[in-house]
Amino acid sequence: MGKTILILGGGIGGTAAANVLSKLLKNHQIILVDREEYHLFRPSLPLLLVNLRHPHQIVRRLTDLEKKGVKFIQAEVNKVMPQRQQVETTQGLLNYDYLIVALGADQHPETVPGQIEAAFNPYNLQDACRLQQELQFFKSGRIIVFIAALPYTGPYGPYEFICLLDTYFRKRGVRNQIQLTLITPEPALFPLASRKINYKLAKLMTKKQIQVYTNAQVLALDHLKNELVLTDGRIFPGDLFIGIPTHRGSKALQHTSLALEQSWCLVDPHTLAAELISTEAADNIYCIGDAAGLKVADGSRWAPKIGIFAHYQAEVVARNIALKLSGKTPQFRYQGKGAGVAMITDYNHASLLSINYYASQPRTFLLPPMSIGWLVKTAFEKYWLNCWF
Ligand SMILES: Cc1cc2nc3c(=O)[nH]c(=O)nc-3n(C[C@H](O)[C@H](O)[C@H](O)COP(=O)(O)OP(=O)(O)OC[C@H]3O[C@@H](n4cnc5c(N)ncnc54)[C@H](O)[C@@H]3O)c2cc1C
Repeated sequence: MGKTILILGGGIGGTAAANVLSKLLKNHQIILVDREEYHLFRPSLPLLLVNLRHPHQIVRRLTDLEKKGVKFIQAEVNKVMPQRQQVETTQGLLNYDYLIVALGADQHPETVPGQIEAAFNPYNLQDACRLQQELQFFKSGRIIVFIAALPYTGPYGPYEFICLLDTYFRKRGVRNQIQLTLITPEPALFPLASRKINYKLAKLMTKKQIQVYTNAQVLALDHLKNELVLTDGRIFPGDLFIGIPTHRGSKALQHTSLALEQSWCLVDPHTLAAELISTEAADNIYCIGDAAGLKVADGSRWAPKIGIFAHYQAEVVARNIALKLSGKTPQFRYQGKGAGVAMITDYNHASLLSINYYASQPRTFLLPPMSIGWLVKTAFEKYWLNCWF
């Protein structure tokens, strides 16, 4: 009898896993569960903000996966229960033989007092659409983009937002009336990159007249005074606040034997097999993408949460499950590195990046902004939305 492979989450990791499994497996059941009806391609959110994309252009129906033999269930995942090989959802209990957790990260704007009331959340589609409208009427004043806590998904997203805002306002001829400020708790813009690369990035921001504050931990957003308050007492008055919320692992993993600190899932760094805390390893549960609690080689910080890595991890896990199902030894291993990520710097340019965070000295390389970078970014968006659905 066929086995059931249950995939939780239809984002980048879950969709990639479902596609690869559907190609490799015959006579087994693949089920994908997501609370949303649509897959959202999050890397396109910065483009949506400045009107270069509309919502319908960056989402795909998850039911489209059914033509590939993947059963889709729209439901909230409430709890993963490894000991019972079951998952509790709003559509009932689901059994599995193999489980792939790809639930991404939960967002917690409530951890910064005032953030829900006074800041837009560009990482949420509805809020990003509201912000897009608001920006159309913004002609002068101070815009503050802040990152509430580490780690967060799409580490280059906030830089893309602020660089695109610079171009957007220049095109509208109002840039000299607008102050753009970026506030991050990171010690440097690209903490895994060399000082030289960080110097170049800082220069790029200065050229765009974007003020950047690093090592800046947000305490609260005073929505009555319109001021962002940092833990060191500094105060930033603003007219429009854009806040990247605190991210945590999925609530469905909370209080389970899979959850590490902050509810990220403890996994083997190369196989992505979930490691049950204080009991035996779970050889039929994998966690990929933003939900995985991966760290850089020396354990000093969380690994960057980037879609391209969710994609690579999905390939490794799906191929290894297929090998196991055919009685073979799993042989694919995730290496924690990749190239081809692009960070948008204006309407026609992006910087290409390569990252290796399992190296003993984690490394990020960054090319200067080029039109080829923009082409890579937009071609990948097209490929993703057209080929995986
Ligand atoms: C603004 C921005 C820009 C980015 N830019 C890039 C980029 O240029 N390149 C890049 O590679 N990456 C980029 N990223 C990061 C990338 O989007 C994420 O790393 C990637 O989406 C993670 O994939 P995932 O499958 O782990 O999670 P997600 O894609 O977030 O998918 C998680 C899925 O699980 C569902 N879900 C969550 N909880 C539940 C629940 N309890 N019940 C049911 N369903 C649930 C969600 O609805 C979602 O569909 C960016 C991110 C952002 C926000």
